[in-house]
Amino acid sequence: MRVMLLGTGAALVDPDRNHSSILLTVRGVNYLFDCGHNATRQMVTYSVDPVSVRAMFLSHLHFDHIADFAYYMISTWMMGREEPPVIVGPPETQHFVTSQLAEGAFAKDIEARAQYPQRQANFDYLKPPVLECTPGLVYEDDLVKVTACYVEHIPREISPCFGLRMDTVDGKSVAFSGDTAPCDAMIELARDVDLLIHECTFPQKAIDFRSKVGIGTWAHTSPSEFGRIATESRAKQAVATHFGHFETTNTILRKHMAKHMPIELVGPEFMDDVVTDIRSKYSGPLHIARDGMTIHL
Ligand SMILES: [Zn+2]
Ligand SMILES: [Zn+2]
Repeated sequence: MRVMLLGTGAALVDPDRNHSSILLTVRGVNYLFDCGHNATRQMVTYSVDPVSVRAMFLSHLHFDHIADFAYYMISTWMMGREEPPVIVGPPETQHFVTSQLAEGAFAKDIEARAQYPQRQANFDYLKPPVLECTPGLVYEDDLVKVTACYVEHIPREISPCFGLRMDTVDGKSVAFSGDTAPCDAMIELARDVDLLIHECTFPQKAIDFRSKVGIGTWAHTSPSEFGRIATESRAKQAVATHFGHFETTNTILRKHMAKHMPIELVGPEFMDDVVTDIRSKYSGPLHIARDGMTIHL
């Protein structure tokens, strides 16, 4: 099994990290956890054919986890794919999918392209099957089983968020937290997993700041809580990901980050603090995610 981190950033525009997306490859078959901005382009960059994705799992409906969806579907329609991927996501995923394609945002694009016989031939590709999650088993085929649990991020009455776990026919397992505050259900879902990919969005000081200023959610996981979760789940190795731009040196992004956290807490040196905080609670194999990072299990 191969796990490739296509995107490891959070919601703002970051030249160093793409939006959330993870490619999981089992016996040559590809699956996607999240489809944030640039997921499709990243696959091509790393020589993975996007038409080969069998199923796509959306952890939640924040745009940094789904923004590439229409791009993915229309690009792969134009590449001539006939069988659509299965789309698995929270309640309202069907509405999201429909609103992005021929009956929604890209109606005129699709109508224009569909004038041509080759695009008519696979037109039904643009109506992918959608499975809306509840906790438990959400998908199964001949190679993998995917289970989901609620995690704590967007208020559930607005839109539930899910952690995901894939178990393969070869006995390998990967868990992905999506976005969440520390949560026992995720520790349980990730129990004894070969690889835990867990968000580690902000250092604790940034979470404290955000909880006071009202700029956005602080329902994220700090580095020391990440370490505790990795230890308590007994994950064999752990990846910290979904970094919230606190390490950026880009001048435009720094200007905007100043509204999200004290600017004296933004800079590449803070990644060292992140590792120190994780290590205060976790001593196992640790990866600090980078776009393109690949792990073989
Ligand atoms: Zn996110
Ligand atoms: Zn989110």
